[in-house]
Amino acid sequence: DAPLIAVCGRPNVGKSTLFNRLTGTRRSIVGDEPGITRDRIYGEIEWQSEYARIVDTGGVVPDDEALIPSEIYRQARVALDEADAIIMVVDGRTELAAPDLELARILLRSGKHIFLAVNKMDTVQITSDAENFRQLGFRDVFAISAEHNNGIGDLLDAVFETL
Ligand code: GDP
Ligand code: MG
Repeated sequence: DAPLIAVCGRPNVGKSTLFNRLTGTRRSIVGDEPGITRDRIYGEIEWQSEYARIVDTGGVVPDDEALIPSEIYRQARVALDEADAIIMVVDGRTELAAPDLELARILLRSGKHIFLAVNKMDTVQITSDAENFRQLGFRDVFAISAEHNNGIGDLLDAVFETL
């Protein structure tokens, strides 16, 4: 089987947007199938003639469920049980919140390859802000804009190198 990359992070940071960007699909758009709850969504990536699978651990869940604290533990379990590499996404335009710190703590102590994607860095001017997020403890920090396709190539280069 192709190696698996997991995308984790608290609600609204841009996990599904990144998933859709990387897979070239719109499969992970929330709200397209009302009433259906899927807690993770799988897709495929090709990068420089290499292949991987990817899982959006946020899946499609009702907003109220996505906000319960145990959601972070569920995501971490999926990532740590299944994935060969993990991309944790944070929103570069908001302050870090308790769930970000808790998720980072769990992921980092696992010993897996973890990459921090600081998302919503839509302009060159604010990409330097990504450095502030090193305080989470990640060695590999990438400023990206999933929406505008910035920084995605560097992130994928680094992730695929470890697979
Ligand atoms: P998820 O809950 O983590 O899956 O987040 P979504 O992918 O659903 O995105 C949440 C919101 O952030 C949506 O309104 C997206 O359009 C927006 N968003 C995602 N990526 C970016 C980005 O790179 N820049 C900006 N400005 N907004 C983004
Ligand atoms: Mg989502």
